[in-house]
Amino acid sequence: MALEKYRGKRDFSKTLEPSGSREDIFEGIFVVQKHAATHLHWDFRLSLDGVLKSWAVPKEPPIGKGMRRLAIQVEDHPLDYVDFEGEIPEGLYGAGKVEIWDKGKFGLIKREKGKIEVALHGSILKGEYVLLKFPKAGENSWLFFKK
Ligand code: MN
Repeated sequence: MALEKYRGKRDFSKTLEPSGSREDIFEGIFVVQKHAATHLHWDFRLSLDGVLKSWAVPKEPPIGKGMRRLAIQVEDHPLDYVDFEGEIPEGLYGAGKVEIWDKGKFGLIKREKGKIEVALHGSILKGEYVLLKFPKAGENSWLFFKK
């Protein structure tokens, strides 16, 4: 159910991306994938509710305090997407190179409507981060920053 939108956009006979058969693992894992699609962006994903909640971040994610990034929430991705790296072929949805930019465990500090606070334990992203819904910039817009 949660992955219908994800699956609807992809032809798994052509892309190497996972179709999402593993739904029982990876709780508490995050990943940031650098995605050289038409527009270079970083996909930030958190394992929550049995899927990867996902945001596309048009600029490099905030490493230090005082850096705010716009993050556009996109469709939920399957949990096994945390390991995905590779080339999505030309002509397909999201065509371009995907590489893991950072990955690690996270702890959920707070989750309420329009706000998610997490402690990230990555190699690059470390510390407490906030995702805050930012409707001024659009329906799916959030702000992503280090606390
Ligand atoms: Mn992407």
